Amino acid sequence: MIMNSLTPIELYGSDYYFLQNFKNDQRSIAIDSIRKDFPLINKNINGHPLIWLDNGATTQKPRCVIDALTTYYKEYNSNIHRGSHTLADIATKRYEEARRKVQQFLGASLPEEIIFVRGATEAINLVAETYGMKNVSYGDEILLTTMEHHSNIVPWQKLSEDTGAVIKVIPINEQGEILLEEYDKMLTTRTRIVAITHVSNILGTVNPIDQMIHMAHSKGAIVLIDGAQAACHLSVDVQKINADFYVFSGHKAFGPTGIGVLYGKKPILEKMPPWQRGGGMIKNVNFNKTEFNKLPEKFEAGTPNIADAIALGEAIDYMNKIGLDKIESYERALTQYAMESLSLVPRLRLIGTASNKTSILSFIIEPYPPDKVANHLNKYGIATRAGHHCAQPTLERYGLKSSNRASLAIYNTKKEIDLLVKTLCSIK
Ligand code: PLP
Repeated sequence: MIMNSLTPIELYGSDYYFLQNFKNDQRSIAIDSIRKDFPLINKNINGHPLIWLDNGATTQKPRCVIDALTTYYKEYNSNIHRGSHTLADIATKRYEEARRKVQQFLGASLPEEIIFVRGATEAINLVAETYGMKNVSYGDEILLTTMEHHSNIVPWQKLSEDTGAVIKVIPINEQGEILLEEYDKMLTTRTRIVAITHVSNILGTVNPIDQMIHMAHSKGAIVLIDGAQAACHLSVDVQKINADFYVFSGHKAFGPTGIGVLYGKKPILEKMPPWQRGGGMIKNVNFNKTEFNKLPEKFEAGTPNIADAIALGEAIDYMNKIGLDKIESYERALTQYAMESLSLVPRLRLIGTASNKTSILSFIIEPYPPDKVANHLNKYGIATRAGHHCAQPTLERYGLKSSNRASLAIYNTKKEIDLLVKTLCSIK
């Protein structure tokens, strides 16, 4: 019997769902109507209704995001900031509105602290190559955790190669939680940068980033938070947590691919040299010298990804309409239900059982290779992921090279988890 940690809530099949803890307040959440907003969620794949459990790789897009893209190209396509005509004015206004939406979404104090980039990966590279190259030198230390995505490892390795700085890795326990006493011991006056994932893309651990940031600051280090797996699952307030940098990718938060965000505190961004150089990021150019533009343009060389930034703004409006607090509560409850349900599958081992965890379920089923398990699920329309999930050191911590991963978002349901479990039980 599957334990129902969500009783008496029904998570599928009626219009409104009341999370157990919130029965008596007004925080209802209409999963049925949310599901109708996502055209692809309602398709059949391999003769079965699609069950999209690959949200850690990318989320599906609501209709309003898709419409924002076509509306831009059909009705006001124009370059921005440099036009002297009506369409350029509209496009510029919408692009800058999107920046303000991101600012509010992250709780940043100023719009110019929001830099549009291609995604989390590009944002981390930008910080490593500008802030890092200016502030890190031989013998300095960069702290990463064992549970980082390759995108939050490889750019720091390059910085280490270029400067002679040393990378140190903060260990985690078997549940997938950072060992804070070890972290405390590893922080020294040589620590320049601490780069931590907010939510692990393999373990689902929600890291105690506010505490970790406070600890790093007490030693004079700055902190970059990789929010790629947090942005559409948890509400973020960069001022409250006091992050120096916070990065995320639009496509993992119901927005399009090719757009992402670097948040940085204004005084830090102002002192950083520009990264890419060209049009848009300059104030004056002659062949002897270039004067750079103010923030945020200083970091947005060339024509930016206008349409996708605007559509990311729509995705943010969409999440705000539901409410990040409701999304978080629902997904945490669904994650708990999924963990309890999966633990009943014979020979299944869950990887990542932190007490503070959301949305990501990694597992292996002996003796089946993860790709066999994923192929079996795919036959029934269930999209999951098998492999190293671009975080090989995390899996190595558990003696693994590969795992299966089911990752959740707001449109997933208890019924889908039941089908996942049933299908896993039928693998031969
Ligand atoms: N960081 C984490 C934790 C991720 O899960 C990912 C992608 O899976 C990234 C960074 C990189 O994101 P992107 O490929 O969108 O740049």
